Amino acid sequence: MILTCPSCQTRYNVNPDAMSPSGRVVRCAKCGHQWIEQPPRDMPLSVDLPAAVPLPPPQLTPHLREIRHATHAETGSRLLQDFFRRLRAKN
Ligand SMILES: [Zn+2]
Repeated sequence: MILTCPSCQTRYNVNPDAMSPSGRVVRCAKCGHQWIEQPPRDMPLSVDLPAAVPLPPPQLTPHLREIRHATHAETGSRLLQDFFRRLRAKN
C-alpha cells in the first residue's frame, strides 16, 4: 500500500502486513511529520480460527468391521460367562 505524508506529500510504499487493524503511527522520513495511518478498508482482519480438527480416516469400513467383531466377541464371551455361571449354580 502507498502512504502519503499529509505534510509534504511524500509517498511511501509500505507493506500492508506492517499495518495493524487499528492503525499505526508512521513517521515521514523526509519532513519528520508523524501521523496515524489507518489500514486500507479491504485489509483482511486477523481472526482466531479454531484449532484444526483431524479428519476421520478415509476408510471407515474396515474400522467399523473391527468394532462389530469386537462387539460380537464381547457378546459371545458374556454368553459363555452366563452359561458357566448357570452351570455352577446348578451344581
Ligand atoms: Zn513528510
